[in-house]
Amino acid sequence: MADIWQQTLHWTPTVQQQVQFQQLYEFILEGNRQFNLTRITDPQEFWEKHLWDSLRGIAPLLRDKEAGVGNTFVSPSSSPTSLSFIDIGTGAGFPGIPVAMTVANSTVTLLDSTQKKMTFVEKLSAALDLSNVKTLTGRSEEVAQQPQHRQTYDVALIRAVGTASVCAEYALPFLKQGGLAVIYRGNWTQEETKALENAVNQLGGVVESIEKFTTPLTDSIRHCLYLRKVATTPVQFPRPVGVPTQKPL
Ligand code: SAM
Repeated sequence: MADIWQQTLHWTPTVQQQVQFQQLYEFILEGNRQFNLTRITDPQEFWEKHLWDSLRGIAPLLRDKEAGVGNTFVSPSSSPTSLSFIDIGTGAGFPGIPVAMTVANSTVTLLDSTQKKMTFVEKLSAALDLSNVKTLTGRSEEVAQQPQHRQTYDVALIRAVGTASVCAEYALPFLKQGGLAVIYRGNWTQEETKALENAVNQLGGVVESIEKFTTPLTDSIRHCLYLRKVATTPVQFPRPVGVPTQKPL
């Protein structure tokens, strides 16, 4: 798949990363027997939906890396070389695990409310020797109110956890000012952007860009929403457990 990585993301995995991707696939297949983690087990589907899609969210960062220009995508003013990521509702480790394999000099915290999934992800990161991965079990509404996690991360990733405004309410409180939330979506419309802008403004953010793309093997339409945190998130957000989904902003 090296050519497709290069053509679509302008980035090529190293041999070591290719080996890790293979190990990840095998570990997920094995774990699936025990934990029923994902219905995506066909190798090409796994590559597209779990590996490629996970890394498409950070494509601008990979481009920066290839160009050797620091992390202008995340922090235009300071361009730090090492970033802290949080993947909210990581499930079996997506998009966080492929991201951790790709940005080895950064730390990636994987958060999920399900203990069973976090136990699996802990085993996975130990087996694959991913020393830059940390794990956290809890609800994002509660963890984001803890001082050691609030306003702490450069990048928040969130895929398939809820509607975009719910994802924004989960993600923005975790970010440092200037940080970036990446919300992975399937379809997206202009009208949805209007509604999202309203929610994001209340949370101290702006909708910086929306990227539409097609996946390389099945030509499926996807979007990534990039939200920039421009002000402190008011302390009442995220609201208590369950409220963001029951009463979306
Ligand atoms: N992000 C992964 C992916 O794209 O393959 C998993 C998506 S799965 C559909 C949603 C995950 O989000 C579940 O593992 C669930 O336990 C977790 N989740 C949902 N709401 C959450 C919350 N408020 N805090 C933490 N985790 C949450």
